[in-house]
Amino acid sequence: MTTPSAPVAARDIPSDQRGNCAICSTLIQRYGAGGNPLCRSCLARVQGDAERKKPSA
Ligand SMILES: [Zn+2]
Repeated sequence: MTTPSAPVAARDIPSDQRGNCAICSTLIQRYGAGGNPLCRSCLARVQGDAERKKPSA
């Protein structure tokens, strides 16, 4: 069984794709394929907040 989205260690991120999370400044893969301006935990929190803000009706 494979792990499709294993966490990427900062040292494994190409230097030109490294960046800091926009919220907590953790070093992440911010650019390039698979890059994201937020780290996984902040992204999850932001998405969770967005879900909660939606009207349930
Ligand atoms: Zn973060």
